[in-house]
Amino acid sequence: MKRPINEMKVVFPSLSENERFARIAVSGFLSFIDPKVDELADIKTAVSEAVTNCIVHGYPDEVGQIELTVKVFEDNIVRIKVSDKGCGIEDIDKAMQPLFTTKPEEDRAGLGFAVMESFMDKIKVKSKLGKGTAVTLEKAVAVRTRA
Ligand code: ATP
Ligand code: MG
Repeated sequence: MKRPINEMKVVFPSLSENERFARIAVSGFLSFIDPKVDELADIKTAVSEAVTNCIVHGYPDEVGQIELTVKVFEDNIVRIKVSDKGCGIEDIDKAMQPLFTTKPEEDRAGLGFAVMESFMDKIKVKSKLGKGTAVTLEKAVAVRTRA
């Protein structure tokens, strides 16, 4: 794909309060494309699922770094990457199955990846045990023509 027309990157510690910051950072950055309210809501929900996973699963016993990048390509294609350098995922296919969770005792539903998949057009997960996890989410957002 061509070079992005705009992009941003933020890095923050895996504190639960930063899940809210990540949602706001993404919606603030995307304001220049003026996304529709429902499309922006979908993106924010997907981002918070990905960031929450870094916090609760990637770094279960420590505070580590989370990196969030957002790129916008021509035709309002939004690509978001959320990555951690935490414990990694043993079996990605299994982890992505709806209702699969490794933390049932913490009342996790195992629906984070399912939510990301249904709210975004594409999802790609890369992970290495002991090295970390990167989730890339993509969505084509409606292009608004101004009167
Ligand atoms: P919910 O999102 O509904 O609260 P959940 O987080 O367990 O529950 P998913 O978000 O679908 O469900 O994730 C499924 C599983 O994938 C997790 O239980 C965890 O084992 C693994 N996982 C997801 N993200 C990461 C990550 N960043 N690092 C390590 N493991 C992860
Ligand atoms: Mg989750």
